[in-house]
Amino acid sequence: MSDLNWDFHCHSTASDGLLPAAEVARRAAGNGVQLLALTDHDDLAGLPAARAAAEEMGMGLVNGVEVSIEWEGLSIHVVGLGFDAANPVLNEGLASIRSGRVVRARRMAEALDAIAIRGAFEGAMAYAENPNLISRAHFARYLVQIGLCKDVHNVFDNYLTPGKPGYVEHRWASLEDAVSWIRAAGGVAVVAHPGRYKISNAALRRFLGQFKDAGGEGIEVVTGSHSPDQIHHFARLARHYGFLASRGSDFHGPEESYTDLGRLSPLPDGLTPICSRFV
Ligand code: AMP
Ligand code: MN
Ligand code: MN
Ligand code: MN
Repeated sequence: MSDLNWDFHCHSTASDGLLPAAEVARRAAGNGVQLLALTDHDDLAGLPAARAAAEEMGMGLVNGVEVSIEWEGLSIHVVGLGFDAANPVLNEGLASIRSGRVVRARRMAEALDAIAIRGAFEGAMAYAENPNLISRAHFARYLVQIGLCKDVHNVFDNYLTPGKPGYVEHRWASLEDAVSWIRAAGGVAVVAHPGRYKISNAALRRFLGQFKDAGGEGIEVVTGSHSPDQIHHFARLARHYGFLASRGSDFHGPEESYTDLGRLSPLPDGLTPICSRFV
């Protein structure tokens, strides 16, 4: 297991990734990934094409999704893995999140218009292959296109995060709903990139306790945005809570991501890798 190359977090054009799902799968296999989970935000539309390409390449594929939740006013992500993609409870839950995205996007465009940034709704939509999955990432690409910032990270820092002029509060799913939809479909719920939340240690522990009580079973220990220190910190938390440990690049596209598919450090010792559920 320790020499298996697995990557359980990445995106395609079914959400805010830059490559179509089949190309994501082919790129992963080309990079040596043996078991991949495609985890688009709030949508399962990329899974059939990813599965067909994975089969062609002789690579394993685990069904995945990254569910947007709101917890104590924070936007947090929960990855679901290994579920039945036809399950109606999961599909209806995800549809309810998607329907809020277009409304939020209109409000974001209004907020940007108020600081004289025009046409952001149409501009962002032009980047969204799946219009129901309109994301802040698509707005970021448009704001780079019009020369406002040099790259998307800069756009987030200056325009699209809490306290900045283009940020709009939004109610996503609750923690309990997201975990229950994933479990209803036979899947495993995992806390995505825990190092990215602007949250105190005490609040994070409270969140992890509630996540476990809700039926959550895993946490990403190795992810594209974690430093070596964060990897060790979250490995300790995984052991403390008895969580399965996950590993995923969070790849969105060749120019936008810190880490390419499958190019991740191994998990620290003394953890139960979540891939053991799927091999
Ligand atoms: P949304 O789901 O529409 O709120 O958008 C969240 C997405 O924006 C994340 O999944 C990332 O793809 C992207 N994102 C968030 N923060 C940053 C950042 N600081 N730099 C680049 N991309 C980011
Ligand atoms: Mn994203
Ligand atoms: Mn995320
Ligand atoms: Mn992601």
